[in-house]
This record gives sequence, structure tokens and C-alpha cells, in this order.
Amino acid sequence: MTTFADLGLYDSLLDGLDSMGFEKPTPIQEQVMPHILAGKDIIACAQTGTGKTAAYLLPVLDKISRQEKEHTAALIISPTRELALQIDHAFQGFSYFTSASSIAVYGGGDGHTFDREKKALTEGASVVIATPGRLISHLNLGYVKFDQLDFLVLDEADKMLDMGFYDDILKIIRFLPSKRQNLLFSATMPPKIRDLARKIMHDPFEVNIAISKPAAGVTQTAYVVYDAQKPELLKHILMKRTDPSMLVFASTKQTVKDLEKELRRKGLPARAIHSDLTQEERESVLLSFRTRQTRILVATDILSRGIDIDNIGLVLNYDVPGDAEDYVHRVGRTARAESTGEAITFIGQKDQRRFGVIEELIERVIPKEPLPEGMGQSPMYNPAARSGGGNGGGGNKKRRPPFRKKRKSPANG
Ligand code: AMP
Repeated sequence: MTTFADLGLYDSLLDGLDSMGFEKPTPIQEQVMPHILAGKDIIACAQTGTGKTAAYLLPVLDKISRQEKEHTAALIISPTRELALQIDHAFQGFSYFTSASSIAVYGGGDGHTFDREKKALTEGASVVIATPGRLISHLNLGYVKFDQLDFLVLDEADKMLDMGFYDDILKIIRFLPSKRQNLLFSATMPPKIRDLARKIMHDPFEVNIAISKPAAGVTQTAYVVYDAQKPELLKHILMKRTDPSMLVFASTKQTVKDLEKELRRKGLPARAIHSDLTQEERESVLLSFRTRQTRILVATDILSRGIDIDNIGLVLNYDVPGDAEDYVHRVGRTARAESTGEAITFIGQKDQRRFGVIEELIERVIPKEPLPEGMGQSPMYNPAARSGGGNGGGGNKKRRPPFRKKRKSPANG
């Protein structure tokens, strides 16, 4: 068994790992760390939950710990504020016994936040963790000290490209010294990532850790439902659970807001997180979930990748995510670090085809549960039919919910 000490990590990092209770490297750490420590560029296909953050932070911190002169040694680019904060949080843990410093640079906040970022960038924080837009604002003002940068890390590169940051990344790279080590982490490897890698990397070592499948410890089930059945079913499931932390995902902000209201009205302590909240509000909601003051968090996909909270017993997909990879990310929020968890998905009438794509991607047929008694019958499941609520020739063409409430489903809100 390889240990962190076998990898030759600096003593103060081993102390940090010890105090965090990390006993042995995860597969991604074991595979990429020796190459990063040896100075190679890396392309790693690995999803959140594999331990990818430590896989790059530890070698970066190792190099910083061995250097005498203080300077900004690493730039880590993240697609979202949430991930940036989470990387910074991990950094604080690993670097506890070192003298390395970090600054997380992301949009939002007030003039005061900008000034604080400016100060850290001017003074040369050891590690800068930034979202692209905000970093460019600082770079344009000319005081950022990247002249001695050793590492460029692109985390969740596929997400960055999905969010339209390709040109921004290239722009940022023009501010960096050409001699540097590049580490690229991505959950998927579409051709555009390869193209980016060709542009910016030098003879990279490649590893592929994450096949796009939820961890083995996740029990996955689904309910095939009419939209009108969803609110009742959600309440029924959540009422029965005793988990201290549960995550409900929905695809639109409006659904998330409606669900928060609906659940609270029914006495279920839920809070919502979505992009209409300010950064402070989001952090406060996350903190209250992390500290278990809030039991149920209702979220859009902004959280599906970033969030790093242990022991989430249940992930419930109120609707099927548009992108099959997002299913894997959402479900990946449970059963982290070899524990077990449960993922339940509501497959609405318009979602059947998309769910079929997910089942193909994860190479698994998810069991479809019958609806609880009194809740009527499910529509037929026929993912091969055209999507669009049963007008595409599936057996569900003319079927109606056996009970019909007048209430409009919030799912389309
Ligand atoms: P990541 O994929 O970087 O988001 O990490 C997923 C989770 O695994 C985080 O909660 C880490 O703190 C944890 N983790 C990472 N590496 C290890 C390790 N070697 N041993 C135990 N837990 C780890």
C-alpha cells in the first residue's frame, strides 16, 4: 500500500494530512501525485468525490514548502465561486502546518472584497484560486504578480468550457510565464478540452479515473410520475426519512424557490440555494446546511459539482437534469468517501427520454419504484419514445393521472 509518506511529501504536509485523518492516497492521488512532483504536466479525467483537489493541492504545497522565496506559485482557476471557496477550504486544511497563504478571488461582494483581493494579489499570496471573470478584472489593472508562477491548475475544465470561459482562459494564460507546470482536471474529456490541452500543455501525462458512474455505495431508484404527483410524493418521501442532511435538486430557480415554500408550509425545514441569492446569502445557507441546522437543502445545479459536505443521506432529483453528466454530479453528492447513500429521481412525463440517456451513460437500469399507496398510478415508462409528455407514441399517450388535483405543479414554474 502506498502511503503519503512514500510519495515523499514534505513533513509539514504529512502532519496536516494526519490531523485531517487522511490515511492513504485515493487512486487519483496515487496516480498523479508522483508525476506532478516530478514536474510533469497532467490531464486527469476525474470527477468530484475522487479526491482530485488534494491530488493537485498537495504537490503544489510541497513545492511551495521547499521554496525559500515567497511568491505566487500557483494559480487555480475554477468555474464557480462555490468550487473556488471549497478549494480554498481544502487548502486551509492541508496548509495548516505550512507558511503558505491563499486568496480566493471570485465575483460578487463589495468594494471592500475587491480591495482585499487586490492586496493579496499585490503581496503575492502563495496560491490564487480564482473564477475567470473576476481574475481578468484584476489582471487588467496590472498589479497581479504572476511572473514567478510555477503551476496553472484548471479545475473542472469541462464545466468552464460549458460556461463559455474558453477565451477567458486563453486571455489569462497570456499573463502567465510560459515556463510553468499545467494541471488540468475535468470530469469529462470532450474534444474542446483536448484542443485546449494541445494549446497550453507540454507533453502531458494522462490519467482517467472517473468513468462517469456514481460511486458504488449509492443506491439509485426512480419514480415514474405525472408532474402533478411530484409535490405529494416529495413530501411523502421526506417525511419518512431520518437523515440529518438531504439535498433536493431541481432544474430551475423558480422550482427551487417554490419547493422551499411548499416544504416549509408543510413543516419540513428546508432552505433554498440558487443564483438569485447574494454571495453572503448563499454562504449562510450552505453553512447552516453544513452545520446541520438546515436538514433539507433545495438547490439548482450550481451546487451539483462544487458542494463538499459529508454524510448527505439522500439526494432527490425533483426532475431529471438536462445533462446526463449532471445526474452523476448530483448523485455524487451522496455516498462520498466510501460511505453509502441514496439517490431518488422523479421521472416526469417530459423527462423519460433524458432519463434513458442517463441510464445509457451509467450503463445501468435504475429500478423504478411503484408509487406509494393512495397516490395513484404511474405513467408508463418508455424512454425510447419521443419526449414531450406522452404525445410521442409511448403507451402513456392517453393516460391521465388517476387523481387530478387542481393545483398547478411548480415544476414548470
Ligand atoms: P474531492 O474529489 O477533491 O472533492 O474530494 C472528495 C472528498 O474526499 C473530500 O471531502 C476530501 O476531503 C476527501 N478526501 C480526499 N482525499 C482523501 C484521502 N486520501 N483520504 C480520505 N478522504 C479524502
